Amino acid sequence: MQATARNLTSSEIEQLANHAGVKARAVENFLATIYAPIGERRNLANMYCDAGQYGWNKATQSAIARGIAVAFGSAKMPAPKPATYATPKLQKRTTTLVCLECGAGTNTLECPRCGSADVDVRI
Ligand SMILES: [Zn+2]
Repeated sequence: MQATARNLTSSEIEQLANHAGVKARAVENFLATIYAPIGERRNLANMYCDAGQYGWNKATQSAIARGIAVAFGSAKMPAPKPATYATPKLQKRTTTLVCLECGAGTNTLECPRCGSADVDVRI
C-alpha cells in the first residue's frame, strides 16, 4: 500500500516547535519536506541522519519525530497546554509562580530564565 501523509498546518508545526530547547527553524523546515512515498520509517531515518549532520538536540528530534508520526496518521497532536491564569489575590511581589518548563521561580507570567509562558502558581 502506498504510504500517505497529510500536510501539517502551520499552527500544528508551531505547536510542535514551541517548546524549550527546540530549534523551531529545523522543525519547520523538516516537516515541510516530508516525502510521503518513502513512508514514515524512512522519513524518520532521514530526520535522524539530518539530526546527526546538523547537531539537532533531543528536544528538536522528538518534536520532528512527533510531527512525522502525526503527518502519517500514526500519532495525534499532543493536547494543547491549558492556559494558566493567576488570580490577583495570589499575585504578590514575592515569587509565587514557578516555570513548568525549567522550574525557575518568577513573579511574571513569562519565565525570566527560559522565556516559557508555561508558569503556574506554586502551591
Ligand atoms: Zn523557565
